[in-house]
Order: sequence, then C-alpha cells, then structure tokens
Amino acid sequence: MSNDNNLITSGFNTRAVRVGHPHTPEGEHSEPIFSTSSFVFESAAQAAARFSGDEPGNIYSRFTNPTVRNFEQRLASLEGGERGVATSSGMAAILATCLGLLKTGDHVVSSRAIFGTTVLLFNNYLGKLGIETSFVPLTDLSAWEKAIRPETKILFLETPSNPLAEVADISALSELAQSKNCLLVVDNCFCTPALQRPLELGADIIIHSATKYLDGQGRCVGGAIVGSEEIVGKDVYGFLRTCGPTMSPFNAWVFLKGLETLKLRMDAHSANALALANWLQGQSAVKQVNYTGLESHPQHALANKQQSAHGGVLSFEVNGGQEAAWKVIDATSFLSITANLGDAKSTITHPATTTHGRLTPEEKAIAGITDGLIRVAVGLEEIDDIKADLEKGINGLKI
Ligand SMILES: *Cc1c(COP(=O)(O)O)cnc(C)c1O
Repeated sequence: MSNDNNLITSGFNTRAVRVGHPHTPEGEHSEPIFSTSSFVFESAAQAAARFSGDEPGNIYSRFTNPTVRNFEQRLASLEGGERGVATSSGMAAILATCLGLLKTGDHVVSSRAIFGTTVLLFNNYLGKLGIETSFVPLTDLSAWEKAIRPETKILFLETPSNPLAEVADISALSELAQSKNCLLVVDNCFCTPALQRPLELGADIIIHSATKYLDGQGRCVGGAIVGSEEIVGKDVYGFLRTCGPTMSPFNAWVFLKGLETLKLRMDAHSANALALANWLQGQSAVKQVNYTGLESHPQHALANKQQSAHGGVLSFEVNGGQEAAWKVIDATSFLSITANLGDAKSTITHPATTTHGRLTPEEKAIAGITDGLIRVAVGLEEIDDIKADLEKGINGLKI
C-alpha cells in the first residue's frame, strides 16, 4: 500500500526518505530490489489486458519495474515534477529527451558551457539525423534570443556551469522559451533538487546524471528525466520503452537509497566547498577562484535567488600555467586525480588537458579554460585535511 498521497505536502527530507515505497505483503522496512526481467499473469486474459493497456501493471522490466518506479517517483517528488523516468546513464537521459521530442529539421539552442559529451551527442549524433544545434554563451540572454529560429524546439543548459561556475537566469530563459514555443531543458546534475529546483522557476524538463550526487558514493552509472506527464510521460518514456536504455533495478535501488541522504550530503558538500573557496581566495599563488558562493562572484545574487546553497564543485587558477597546476595536483596525497564528481571522495582535475583537452587554443580561450585552471569537486572529508592536501602544492609555487 502506498501512503504517498499523505506525503505530497511534507518537507523535502521527509519525501526523500518516504516517497515511492509501496510496501509488499512481506512487511519489509527497507525498499526491496525487484530483480526480475519479466512478470507473470494470473491468466491468458490478464496477459492480454496488460498488453493492450486495458489493465495497468508490470509486463517486462524494459517497460516498468517496481524498484525503478520507486526511484522515479521519489526523484520526481523532490524536483516537483509530475513524472520521472530513469535511464541507464545521464547521456541516455539526454538522448531519450532529444529523440523522444525532436525530428529531422528541428533545431536546438544550447549553452556552450555544458558537459563535453553532450556537445558530441548534439553535434555528431543529432547532427547526423539533421537536427542542428547552435551554441551560445550561457549568460547572454540576447544571444539565446538571436539564435532561436522558427524550427527551434529545445533550449538546453546546465547551471552553474562547469568548471567556471557561470549562472543562467532560469526564469528569464524560461520566459524566452515560452514566448518562442520551445521547451527549456535544464541538466540539474550539479545542484540536484536539494539545492535548486528549475521546474519551480519555469523550466520544462530536468535531466540528471544520477551517477553523480544522486548516488553520491561513485558506485553506479544512471540517469533520469523529470517533467510533465504530457511530455515526459508520453514521448520521452515512449522512446525508452521501445529503444531500451532503461535503468537496472539494482542501480535504481542504490540511487533510491542515495536520495534519502541527498540534502544532508549536498549541504555538507556546499559547506566544505565554500570554506575551501574562501581559503583559496586568500592564497597569493591563486589568481582567481570560481564558486557561486563567494560574494566576489559576479552572479552571487542570482545564484542566491535560485539556489539554497552552492554545491560541491569549484575551480581556481594558479599563477604559472600548466606546470604549476600539475604541481599542485601531483602534490596531493589523498585527493583523487579523476574527472568524476559528486562523490564523498574529493576529486581534482586539470580541465585544459583532460575534459577540455580536445578543444583548440581558440576554443579554450572562448570557454575560459586557462592552463593554470584546476577543478576540485569537494567531497566530505574533513575540510582542514582537504586544505592541507592542496596547501602542499600551492605553497611551493612562485607568487
Ligand atoms: C556526468 C554528466 C553527464 C553524463 O552522465 P553519465 O551518467 O556519465 O552518462 C551529463 N551531464 C553532466 C552535467 C554531467 O556531469
């Protein structure tokens, strides 16, 4: 029996712990994992009714699975959306959204400061189908407006951006999208619904890489889409059900349990990142710190308006270019040198030679990826230990 109806007006943490767990007759307290590919019917007539859609219920785990549904319902509740659908990865969430909603001849306008693989998906794979994407600077509202054509269907962005922490004005972009009959799609991976709920600001569709903070401990790859029943529940779900990049029940269970501690973790990541950003700002070898939580951030006020905290990811530029940046990275003893993020473990990376390594010098300059830039996804270790691990390299740099 589901008691979700009683939870609709409950607070965020209550829904994060309680929504989406219809107890089975076994009386289990923790959510079960329904590890089954198919479901059985009581009769041939029931099978026929399930297949025709006359009777709701499970048929096959590519269509629906109870554990996956539990995760979808819980995440949708936290984002404030009617419908969530889970996917095998974050990229599969973006693919399902695009292929569910777009056709040859349609056009996408995207922020250019988005996850690198998303750029490849738009250019190489949507491009091959005759769906063109125009890239614009995230914060330049008039550039968005100018790039929109009669055939534009989707505006796509991430905010704050990675790794420079630029902030999109979600309400302004949603008004623009509405006036031009486009859908505003926001990849909410960095803030999660614990810190930012774009649907409340007028966005139409939320994308997640559950791989990051929804899991929070770097165990599984997964994704999700949240939005209205009309859009996500029909065409996007329809693509998944037929084309198949669905989430496994085990991964759904990991993410479902991850949601229970999401707000606690995001607040702790944010507190650590803010403390680290403030400390970095005081280091003479550090030229610039990019974090929306700093009062010196040019869009601090806008970030405060749409986010309840500033998340775990920051970047900073050291004097001395690539050599200095690599020195700081290589001097750390426990920070993980990896481009992943959203983990209890802090990670450190040099964007210019990894995530943005394929860009030409001109493209790097436009994107603001300098040779001295370092990104840290601040984890949940003690902040004094994180500072000490970075201090070793930073202290050795010429000022
Ligand atoms: C990681 C990431 C993705 C892709 O997610 P996968 O789960 O790796 O497929 C998409 N968007 C953002 C912002 C990401 O950080």
